[in-house]
Amino acid sequence: MSSSFYSPVLAQLVPYLPGEQPKIERLVKLNTNENPYPPSPRVVAAITQAAQQGLQLYPDPESSALRQAIATQLGLAEQHVFVGNGSDEVLAHAFFAFFQQSHPLLMPDISYSFYQVYCRLYGISAQTVPLREGLRLAVADYGLAPGQSVAGVVVANPNAPTGIGLPLADIEQLLQLHPTSVVLVDEAYVDFGGQSAVPLIARYPNLLVVHTLSKSRSLAGLRIGYACGQTHLIEALTRVKNSFNSYPLDRLAIAGGVAALDDTAYFERTRQQVMSSREGLVLALEDLGFEVLPSQANFVFARHPLFDAATLAAGLRSHGVLVRHFKQPRIEQYLRISVGTPQQCDALLQALAQLLMPGG
Ligand code: PMP
Repeated sequence: MSSSFYSPVLAQLVPYLPGEQPKIERLVKLNTNENPYPPSPRVVAAITQAAQQGLQLYPDPESSALRQAIATQLGLAEQHVFVGNGSDEVLAHAFFAFFQQSHPLLMPDISYSFYQVYCRLYGISAQTVPLREGLRLAVADYGLAPGQSVAGVVVANPNAPTGIGLPLADIEQLLQLHPTSVVLVDEAYVDFGGQSAVPLIARYPNLLVVHTLSKSRSLAGLRIGYACGQTHLIEALTRVKNSFNSYPLDRLAIAGGVAALDDTAYFERTRQQVMSSREGLVLALEDLGFEVLPSQANFVFARHPLFDAATLAAGLRSHGVLVRHFKQPRIEQYLRISVGTPQQCDALLQALAQLLMPGG
């Protein structure tokens, strides 16, 4: 893409995922880490009710009901919560608000690809820190040399696409290494066994934690994400939001999000189910000869010592099973596989068993 009408920045931006969201159904879709279970039935009831009342009117620009529901759940106050149209939008606003500085932003070399996209979009220079052996993050690698300054730090915990989680003590160490810049912890997958940094918010004015309702609340289709932190950070995000779109969340999303957060029993049941399917999936993949990284997320990251990952991903696609393969150096021999229902996991394993057979 190039045109004299575009900003040169646009030429470097690669559209995300269009090929990963095929229009054909009937596929076993384990490529974008959605929850395999539908949202709580209360969500549909709440959306239906909201649709019957007042769609001709703008939604609450503050999304107060939803922010209050999130805050209550986390033991925070509404003014500690910022909501957006998916956590992607929340991340974009956070990058805009906090990281556009003359110094670089620190992040792992292997992490959520959108961090680099936002850096390019906003002219932020990214300084990547290589993950260590086993694709593990070592907080000690995030220290500053004398005289060095950074715009901030962003990490996903658990990391994506590895699924490896960091203990809270490591996050605390990161916060202490960078007391004067924002440390953004993206906890998109934390409900599947990770440790949340939310309890640290009261003590660390530089901590911003980002969550989504797309994964553990099964609401990827409704687009709800949020950030929590001390009020000065939330106020900064609100300024950015108001300059882009005063009403990022519509009435249906607000109503559906509140209902999803309300149904704690459903949330517990589905997340336990996903975690237990993950344990079964890991064992079955290991039986097939895969090496699987320890996952605290709703996906696993696995490689086979004898089979090429791109070939396996293509083979799975021809069996109607979608998984994610990254062409990025260091991880090109891995497959990222979302944890599906037991039936979806069986379909994946059967297809893999065939592909791994001699002549398969
Ligand atoms: N952060 C991470 C680490 C992710 O993997 C994703 C999902 N692709 C997101 C944020 C964005 O999720 P959403 O916009 O659906 O909230």
